[in-house]
Amino acid sequence: MLSEFDLIARFFTRTDASGGAVALGIGDDCALLAPLPGDELAISTDMLVEGRHFFPGADPEALGHKCLAVNLSDLAAMGAAPVAFTLALALPHSDPAWLAPFASGLLSLADAHQCVLAGGDTTRGPLTICITVFGRLPAGDALRRDKAREGDDIWVSGELGDARLALAHYRKETVLDPNLLAMAAARMHRPTPRVALGQALRRLAHAAIDVSDGLIGDLGHILARSGVGASLHVDRLPIGQALALQDTDLRRCFALGGGDDYELCFTAAPANRASIEAVGHQTGVRLTRIGIIEPLPGLRLVDDAGKPVLVNTSSFDHFSTP
Ligand code: ADP
Ligand code: MG
Repeated sequence: MLSEFDLIARFFTRTDASGGAVALGIGDDCALLAPLPGDELAISTDMLVEGRHFFPGADPEALGHKCLAVNLSDLAAMGAAPVAFTLALALPHSDPAWLAPFASGLLSLADAHQCVLAGGDTTRGPLTICITVFGRLPAGDALRRDKAREGDDIWVSGELGDARLALAHYRKETVLDPNLLAMAAARMHRPTPRVALGQALRRLAHAAIDVSDGLIGDLGHILARSGVGASLHVDRLPIGQALALQDTDLRRCFALGGGDDYELCFTAAPANRASIEAVGHQTGVRLTRIGIIEPLPGLRLVDDAGKPVLVNTSSFDHFSTP
């Protein structure tokens, strides 16, 4: 049986454990961050609990990736560059066969974003993974939820609804053939945080949020915090191949309310359309204009002809029950 200290040394301590902005990493009572003059620190915490946020027995490598990805996604939504993170881990037992792939999934994504594991806590308990990330950005430049303005375009990155489609298959609400399931499941298990995109949108976008709980709810936070409303074109929502093959109701439901997408939804002045499209090309991320910010509060769904759309709420409720 590994002791807590052996476990940290073996799986979570790197020889090069400090980047420029991390003055002191794992091993002392606190880590030390050294923010640059003129920067603000962006800080976010997300907790993943077995049975609630992931299935018991989930693949540890994918889990390691996902628990950091969802935190990096919050940094992306503020336009912050990743600096460091801490990892609080409750483990039922210290099993190297689980810890090795978990650490590998976690630290590969951390390395890809130069985000240093700077500390944490380890205890015995029901499997729970809690990460706090620290990012940096020039003071005053953060993409907040409360800055959407009347007349702004509403944009979304990537494609929506695939993670929810995979979940529907696992819950036997629908049946996907193996190829489509593999595509949708990859989006569910290994989300891509839009880190470069978020930073490129600073000074171009007015407001932003990452879509973790479903587009309608998350865009709703921007609207509420900004004191505005919106019209959303339900038939312009970007969806992947697997979801495109589903019927209209399910397609709209999952794209609008699915959750676990980890795409960025942001608003920006129409004058910035060309610059935003250029950012999409530079970062290799599909960007789609899906609606417009309006002064009248509330969210109105319209079809391509501009007619109001009522999404079938019985299926919506059915599919959105936790
Ligand atoms: P303390 O008792 O002072 O809280 P710990 O014994 O819990 O210290 O941790 C020792 C060192 O190991 C600290 O620097 C802490 O940040 C780090 N650490 C503990 N658990 C983890 C973990 N899961 N991942 C990374 N670092 C960790
Ligand atoms: Mg401790």
